[in-house]
Amino acid sequence: MNLETMYGSMGISKEVYAYGQKIEKELKERFAAIDENAEYNQLKVVYAMQKHRVSDIHFAGTSGYGYNDLGRDTLEEVYAEAFHAEAALVRPQIACGTHALSVALAANLRPGDELLAVSGKPYDTLEEVIGIRPSSGSLAEYGITYRQVDLRSDDSFDLEGIQKAMNERTKMVHIQRSKGYQTRRTLSVADIGEVIAYIKSINPEVICLVDNCYGEFVERIEPTDVGADLCAGSLIKNPGGGLAPAGGYIVGKEAYVENCAYRLTSPGLGKEVGATFGVMQSFYQGFFLAPAVTAGALKGAVFAANIYERLGFDVLPNGRESRHDIIQAITFGTPEGVIEFCRGIQAAAPVDSFAEPEPWAMPGYDSDVIMAAGAFVQGSSIELSADGPIKPPYAVYFQGGLTWEHAKFGILKSLQKLSDAGIAKIP
Ligand SMILES: *Cc1c(COP(=O)(O)O)cnc(C)c1O
Repeated sequence: MNLETMYGSMGISKEVYAYGQKIEKELKERFAAIDENAEYNQLKVVYAMQKHRVSDIHFAGTSGYGYNDLGRDTLEEVYAEAFHAEAALVRPQIACGTHALSVALAANLRPGDELLAVSGKPYDTLEEVIGIRPSSGSLAEYGITYRQVDLRSDDSFDLEGIQKAMNERTKMVHIQRSKGYQTRRTLSVADIGEVIAYIKSINPEVICLVDNCYGEFVERIEPTDVGADLCAGSLIKNPGGGLAPAGGYIVGKEAYVENCAYRLTSPGLGKEVGATFGVMQSFYQGFFLAPAVTAGALKGAVFAANIYERLGFDVLPNGRESRHDIIQAITFGTPEGVIEFCRGIQAAAPVDSFAEPEPWAMPGYDSDVIMAAGAFVQGSSIELSADGPIKPPYAVYFQGGLTWEHAKFGILKSLQKLSDAGIAKIP
């Protein structure tokens, strides 16, 4: 059977297949650059593992308190090495990215301090962590105030606004690399470095925290290479490489990471406790695979941008611009567009392909959200997935794909659904 017939047997029409092949051919150079980046980052990870003498003894799990968990402690050294940071906290007890960020914030802020967000409103779930939307246990309830400086209309940092907003209570600055559920540009690591340098020139004591979700391994440098004091993310996104079954990480300056450990476990206990059960091998192996997995996801994002841009939809980033995370936003302008796209992604999944996603009121979000995730790990968004809030401008956020081949199939399947529903017209 040839490829076209094989796609045909998977429900992809000749028309959709041919359009996909045409777009893919035009992306050869982009893909080669992504592969070279993955090659660089692969070496970075292997270097860190070799330097810290990773051995199969590190894959054994601990139970109970988890004292002397060699695998856990060494993995934290490997993360710190790869991020060129002083220390790391990499734990299955960190439930998700929101939890990692929440720990980083709460651990390093005290009553009377102020948090300043300089890349606009943080990711939706952080609104309740901070108390932008009142919530039990928020930073606001503990007397930690919050200020926000939006990006300017061209998505650059509002340096003047930042200077005005900083005051003697400003203890921590929040910078979000990825766009989240917003239609703005994703920040490059270089952009982040510039704003950190500016903030430090005003007050070198301010702690700069970067929400690094979806950004890991997309570039050759990470925020910790350009002055970030703390950087946090989820292991069911890029750095888990699709194998980590749960978890989160925080990397950065030793003293701040220590504070995070005291907050995550308990004052006095810190990093010394926290059993790892049997997850260490998948944490190590996932981190090892992460550069290649991220590259596959990135190719999927570039492919999707080019497919939909040429069909007349607004895409962000556009088909040609450089990439700083694995998220692709596509604006359909109608709920039906968002829903059909997600149904196509679901139908392409290896797991739960028979399920039909529906919009629902997810905890932490302020509108109905539809999610497509036929993943091995529940909710994993380094696996092929798409989600979108059902509110204007009706944009879908597409990400992941453990392999480029699977990402491609998912995008063709979404296009097939949109084409069958008359929403997309293939030229
Ligand atoms: C995913 C994400 C988060 C939160 O992560 P969860 O694992 O879903 O809790 C925070 N910030 C950004 C930018 C994200 O993409």
